[in-house]
Amino acid sequence: MTTEPKESAQRLAILGSTGSIGTQTLEVVRRHPDRFAVEVLAAGTQTGRLIEQALEFQPNAVVIGEAGYGKVRDALASTDIKVFAGDEALNEVCAFDTVDTVVTAVMGGMGLRPTLTAVAHRKKIALANKETLVMGGLLVREAVARYGTVVNPIDSEHSAIFQCLQGEPEAGVEKLILTGSGGPFRGRTRENLRDVRPEQALKHPTWRMGRKISIDSATLMNKGLELIEAAHLFGVRPENIDVVIHPQSIVHSLVQFRDGSVKAQLGLPDMKGPILYALSSPDRLPESAAQTPRLSLSQIGSLTFEEADRENFPCLALAEAAARAGGGMPCVLNAANEVAVAAYLNEEIGFMDIPALIEQRLEAAGADAVKRGRDLDDLLALDAEVRAATREAIEKHNL
Ligand code: MG
Repeated sequence: MTTEPKESAQRLAILGSTGSIGTQTLEVVRRHPDRFAVEVLAAGTQTGRLIEQALEFQPNAVVIGEAGYGKVRDALASTDIKVFAGDEALNEVCAFDTVDTVVTAVMGGMGLRPTLTAVAHRKKIALANKETLVMGGLLVREAVARYGTVVNPIDSEHSAIFQCLQGEPEAGVEKLILTGSGGPFRGRTRENLRDVRPEQALKHPTWRMGRKISIDSATLMNKGLELIEAAHLFGVRPENIDVVIHPQSIVHSLVQFRDGSVKAQLGLPDMKGPILYALSSPDRLPESAAQTPRLSLSQIGSLTFEEADRENFPCLALAEAAARAGGGMPCVLNAANEVAVAAYLNEEIGFMDIPALIEQRLEAAGADAVKRGRDLDDLLALDAEVRAATREAIEKHNL
């Protein structure tokens, strides 16, 4: 495709461009070349894919993890594309004058610092990395208020709520209702969850996603993290956010207003919808039915809803408790979860050890952690302490 971006094209820095959301963001750019241009691509370890993307989209700069620097630099030597490496570079590209919007689609807690930098430089944020808000939601909210920028959600549930809230005064909102598919193990009990293996957990019934989020989805931690994310994004207390299981993933979430009316946003499960809306809102850009198949309710037939099972999936209840406690508790929850999920994927621990480890860390952190994390340094220190303690518990089999 040779279409040149218009002067008015929104210039994107895509952090995590080789991951699931990153590659789908580039698909959205391919479909709307007059509206979006790629200024920066950043990836961790997937050098081959980053090089391909850079050659296709011709960004001003790319960032890769330290280990891949030589390979990417050599491959792009004959182009004008600048090549940087490492976390500091990831942070610096977020401050580039030539970037309008930062798409944060990196994995886990590493999204926080670059997001704060982007906010401080008044970039629009399209946020796919929920851990950023779970860990540092208070800091991000403060910074967004101070610098007057916006954070548009890419998570499908939050995009749904964001769409339902368009044109609605904040005071009218009574409750948010997050839907979740229930994951691949819906209906199972603790007993027969004990021995489920990572490859089973990675098979999500309705969404295609990265490995970490697929495990979070299987434990229902994903819904818990989304509840914390929603509280920060929309300024709603955790007590006023409900979760309902909806296996078909057609109703992406709902808002209940104080007059009793409820609005929902619907669509087939496809992350390109939320990505496009995060970038284009309040505009709606045309997508053909071949690109975005239209929803046929009569073909789907029935939509079902059920209560979330907190008894057999304790991660959701743990996240709700951490959200209500507030302060540094969600950071503790997130750090313990990231380490536990990595250990599960590595087959060091069992599926039900994930909630056990998190509960252990939340209890150990206690009331003290609620007061922690008021600034970035303390938050990162708390995060590191909890990661180390979780690692230690795994190595000592202290579960
Ligand atoms: Mg989601």
